[in-house]
Amino acid sequence: MNQAEAKAAQSAVLILDDERDMCEFVADVGSDLGFKTHWCDNFEDFACRYSIDLQGIFLDLAMPGMDGVEIIRFLGDNHSEAPLVLMSGYDSDVIDAARRLAETRGLKVAGVLHKPFMLAELSAIYKILAEVRRSPRPSAVERPKDIYRPDAQALSNALDEGHVVPYFQAKFCASTRQVKGAEVLARWIDPERGLIGPDRFIPMAEQDGLIERLTDTVIRKSLAQCRLWRRLGFAPRVALNLSPLLLRWLDLPDALLDMAREYEVPPEQIMLEITETALVGDFSASLDILTRLRMRRFGLSVDDFGTGYSSLKQLQQGPFTELKVDQSFIAKALTEEGARAIVESSIALGHRLGLKVVAEGIETEEQLELVRSLGCEEVQGYLLGRPCAAEGFTWPQPLPHQ
Ligand code: C2E
Ligand code: CA
Ligand code: CA
Repeated sequence: MNQAEAKAAQSAVLILDDERDMCEFVADVGSDLGFKTHWCDNFEDFACRYSIDLQGIFLDLAMPGMDGVEIIRFLGDNHSEAPLVLMSGYDSDVIDAARRLAETRGLKVAGVLHKPFMLAELSAIYKILAEVRRSPRPSAVERPKDIYRPDAQALSNALDEGHVVPYFQAKFCASTRQVKGAEVLARWIDPERGLIGPDRFIPMAEQDGLIERLTDTVIRKSLAQCRLWRRLGFAPRVALNLSPLLLRWLDLPDALLDMAREYEVPPEQIMLEITETALVGDFSASLDILTRLRMRRFGLSVDDFGTGYSSLKQLQQGPFTELKVDQSFIAKALTEEGARAIVESSIALGHRLGLKVVAEGIETEEQLELVRSLGCEEVQGYLLGRPCAAEGFTWPQPLPHQ
């Protein structure tokens, strides 16, 4: 796209529908409201016309030879910031599923239009476009390309220089609200750029062969902190996140046990959190390592439960001690029946399997009350405590004799 075209695209709305008259219909309303409108009836044209500066995208979910899901994936991969309007003749369940999918891919859904278009749809298009015009233009918003994307060399230097450190987020008893433990969350504190969150460096560390070094650093620093806390008379229980890749490393159980001994932290005070997605794939190899970790008395937690499609058999066979209900379900449990059902059944399933259940991402009293009433033992979330540096973390009571 040349500069003039890029400029023209800035206030443009792009419409994709294999029915030409639908495209023209939406395009007419858009033009009425002063938008530049482009439409296409196939994905190839759509992909060529697509630009990050678009102000709105109208998308037909049912296209011959291609379903809307693939287009949603394309938009997500391209970090589309344009409000998305889904158009479909499908029933509301299908459209709702597409909307949720788009949202989980980071897209903003501005509205849904049901086909065939009637008068109601016409006024809905006016309303949506008027809203779109009021919202900030994508070009004024921080662009993905403007976000600092560190590379492996920068991370390697940061590890050398001690810039990757553990933060601690408290886990609370759901009924008494007493601190029961803390989850360690890695942070990269860059002297110039400030705090960099793990979503921006863990996947890269996994991809570029730095995850073992990073994990070693984070674990050593957190266990050293635990030793200090223990010497001060506290009884810290910590949870460490383990990348699924490490479950392929046969020496992991002994390496962790050696570290626990070195820093004088009993393994039973250490919970290892493993995302549910790690259980999919070569489960027997993971089961070997998980079993040996359990034999060394580490606690084992299934993290992000509900997102990874592990089978019930894997969950039942794995020697887990804790299950963490994923925060995406907690966030919607009070507004979406489906999410609430997942929260309820995950808690019940965890208990049937003899696991302690933790709900993460608790941001409101109502969410806390819901999971507490469902029997969830522990909670974690911004309502009760955000992740913070070790200096900002307070344990409840010193041990009587230590
Ligand atoms: P996770 O293990 O599921 O950790 C929970 C994430 O949710 C953390 O994000 C935490 O800061 C955030 N969080 C906690 N309470 C709330 C809340 O009430 N609302 C919301 N919206 N978020 C909340 P964070 O620290 O950005 O970590 C993201 C992910 O990075 C973690 O997800 C974990 O999978 C990974 N990670 C962090 N540290 C490490 C590490 O040392 N090693 C490995 N392998 N992964 C790590
Ligand atoms: Ca975790
Ligand atoms: Ca989690």
